[in-house]
Amino acid sequence: MSTPPGLPPSGATGATPVFVAPDPSRGTLDAATAQMLVVEDLHTSYGAIEALRGLSFVVRQGTVVALIGANGAGKSTTLNSISGIIVPTRGTVRFEGRDITGWRADRVAGLGLVQVPEGRQILGPLTVEENLQLGAYSRRDGGVRADVTRTFERFPRLAERRRQLAGSLSGGEQQMLAIGRALMARPRLLMLDEPSLGLAPLIVREVFAIIAELKAQGSTILLVEQNARKALAVADEAYVLEGGTIARHGPAAQLRDDPSIVEAYLGRHA
Ligand code: ATP
Repeated sequence: MSTPPGLPPSGATGATPVFVAPDPSRGTLDAATAQMLVVEDLHTSYGAIEALRGLSFVVRQGTVVALIGANGAGKSTTLNSISGIIVPTRGTVRFEGRDITGWRADRVAGLGLVQVPEGRQILGPLTVEENLQLGAYSRRDGGVRADVTRTFERFPRLAERRRQLAGSLSGGEQQMLAIGRALMARPRLLMLDEPSLGLAPLIVREVFAIIAELKAQGSTILLVEQNARKALAVADEAYVLEGGTIARHGPAAQLRDDPSIVEAYLGRHA
């Protein structure tokens, strides 16, 4: 099978990359480095509180990048500043060669930069299937129905509950639905905010298995997690946030073995 445009030539396992939608009409990519998302000197404030203080990092195409850090380090603020939920006060966000700093959330999502927010934020009064269809609201292609079918194949538990109201799902099922809904937008880059938050260990394992599967299919993912152990296990690269800046950066495998990282971030989660 040849590699479709928009996917890395190597690193995928050969599985069909069903959810990565190549679109050459979208911005240009730096071919030499395949830097998909470039964040430079980002500052974001809530009134007098400076949550981000000059944050810089890069997400390369076809990689999983983890942002780890303690409570209040600025992880959610970082994702929200990229996705347009919050407007940064300084710095730039470039996606596929395009400066998207301060763009509205719907425009950012329209480029294929799709966020699964902390706390899932699925629509409880709608059914599982309706929530999935909402994920594809901006798509004009004819593939939505086929993608609903694929999503149900990927998440059999959602298929069993397709006509159930989303608000009646368990926390784990809601997280699956939130990821499934984001995939329905055919993201070029998926940003996951604390996907394991509040879930039982068995379900956390399932959520990370899905992330690993998406990675194997060539997806590009920016993952925010407090469960640093799990995040570093699935990620290629990781950034450690402290007080709104990057304190450390490196290959995830290297950080996983670093005694100072182990002591500060890996002790709590077995
Ligand atoms: P957590 O894991 O607890 O969600 P985080 O790393 O995602 O933490 P943020 O939620 O980004 O951190 O918060 C960064 C800083 O900004 C914190 O000091 C927080 O108190 C502050 N903050 C976040 N949201 C707001 C808000 N809406 N208004 C005022 N301050 C905020």
